[in-house]
Amino acid sequence: MKLLEDRIRQDGVVKAGGVLKVDSFLNHQLDVALLEELAGEFYRLFREEGVTKILTIEASGIAIAALTAQKFAVPALFAKKSRTSNMAGDVYTAPVESFTHGVTYQVMVSRDFLRPQDRVLLIDDFLANGKALEGLWSLVKQAGATAVGAGVCVEKAFQPGGDALRNQGLRVEALARIASMDETGVTFC
Ligand code: 5GP
Repeated sequence: MKLLEDRIRQDGVVKAGGVLKVDSFLNHQLDVALLEELAGEFYRLFREEGVTKILTIEASGIAIAALTAQKFAVPALFAKKSRTSNMAGDVYTAPVESFTHGVTYQVMVSRDFLRPQDRVLLIDDFLANGKALEGLWSLVKQAGATAVGAGVCVEKAFQPGGDALRNQGLRVEALARIASMDETGVTFC
């Protein structure tokens, strides 16, 4: 998606360790008008799929997931990284190794909010090694629900997650796919 690629070229900052910083518009400070355009693109890509729920992981997926949910007129659900005392009922859990922090979280969602009849669209800001989406997909499977696919804003295609998930049969759509990046800039696929 040209709009997102242009914005990454303009405001993205490449850090050491294969990390792209986009915190001025995507996952810290939020350019809501841009996010709404991205959400509209996810809607265009998945509108035939009978989506009943959007699922993401806290914290940086929540904003784009919420705007996407609004396009589909369905709830947005986010997997939590720690249990809170007021979490409803039993939970489904899955381990997720964090790309940016290196630690493994047990992410969880309440069983009340994922049902076997749900058709779930997974949404996240980034796809790198695929651990976040794998964990979310596992929660969907545990609930007996269907994952219709995954929409990510940025796929770092030089890292293995996207290919691994597609090979496992998940439809993965990325709005910007990065072939390579270094301190001189970003090259898109
Ligand atoms: P994965 O689980 O696919 O290895 O990594 C995806 C998760 O790690 C996303 O939820 C995202 O928050 C974070 N992440 C991965 N790569 C990057 C990156 O280059 N920049 C930022 N800001 N976050 C990233």
